[in-house]
Amino acid sequence: MLGNSIRIARIGDIDVGVHYSWILVFLLVAWSLAVGLFPSQFPGISIGIYWIMGFGASLLLFVSVLIHELAHSFTAEARGLRVSSITLFIFGGVSNISGEPRSARDELLISAVGPASSLVLGGLLYVLWLALGAGGGPVEGVVLYLASINILLALFNLIPGFPLDGGRVLRAIVWWVSGSISTATRVAVASGSVVAFLFVLGGLFLLFNGAFISGVWLILIGWFLRTAADATGRESQATNWLRGVTVGRVMNPRPATVDPEESLAQLVHEHILRRSVRALPVVEGERLVGMVTLNEVRDIPKEQWETTPVRTVMMRVDDLRTVPPQQDLTTALRLLAEHDINQLPVVEDGRLVGLLSRSNVIRYIEVREELGAPPEEGEEGGRAA
Ligand SMILES: [Zn+2]
Repeated sequence: MLGNSIRIARIGDIDVGVHYSWILVFLLVAWSLAVGLFPSQFPGISIGIYWIMGFGASLLLFVSVLIHELAHSFTAEARGLRVSSITLFIFGGVSNISGEPRSARDELLISAVGPASSLVLGGLLYVLWLALGAGGGPVEGVVLYLASINILLALFNLIPGFPLDGGRVLRAIVWWVSGSISTATRVAVASGSVVAFLFVLGGLFLLFNGAFISGVWLILIGWFLRTAADATGRESQATNWLRGVTVGRVMNPRPATVDPEESLAQLVHEHILRRSVRALPVVEGERLVGMVTLNEVRDIPKEQWETTPVRTVMMRVDDLRTVPPQQDLTTALRLLAEHDINQLPVVEDGRLVGLLSRSNVIRYIEVREELGAPPEEGEEGGRAA
């Protein structure tokens, strides 16, 4: 879940939250509908009813955005990705999908299904409005408003700039054609920047022509798109850099280790303090038998450190998660994140061959980022399927 948001529901295994900014937008939309749009489009209704229509429509707008995001999320899950949460915020929603789609086809499906569902929903609501007699009463007014807002939602999201759905569709198509997700990401991010620039330009134009509020809105949207395009681009570039990289390439191949018969006092003074590490693999010869961290040491009273061997407090190897050196780095990262652990022993035939920690991975990404390194050969995985 994004920061500054409150959880309001759980649908399937997905947490749904709203960002605080959304509450303000909810009130603004209700207010502008009740005193502006509804009285001018559907005259002759009482002010109290306009307010009820305004709040009802604002709430159902929220449901529409949620349906759009659920369409993304359910499709992502059906294509094997994990979705932890959906956050609804000022300009719509964000589905928190972990990992990147495995193929261009998956990316295309996941990103196109959102606007498609909004379009279908808009169409159905329009048909409902016709079935209700196409009138201008309170219910018809809300239905017609929702029909048009869903269609607008679809069209806005289809603008071909990353990270909008249209930008993802563009990325999927370039990925499909070029076979390179890095190239596709660069194209989609660049196009996102152009779109953001056009929004700001349009906003300035309106501003100087007296349409102050609309101008500010466009500039805000442009600024938001620009920031989001940058962030999404960087994040997915990092994922691309990790694609096809093995644990063996990034791990520490000579981690500090400790013998199971050493005492906790030795462990603390000779290993933990001297090398400032928080976790050590416990090895007998070369064989991994367990792992010991500061947590296990802290549970034992200080007076007993001299007489307690590491073996009695360590986590046993059977209870540990380990990875082979050939393991794909993104899979290892997922293990680290899902089990909230900081390091994974790297094991081959029971022998400890290294230790993979989060900081190894972060350093690897930083170096790649600073070098602006192009992907190494064999890394352009995930060809179009
Ligand atoms: Zn979407």
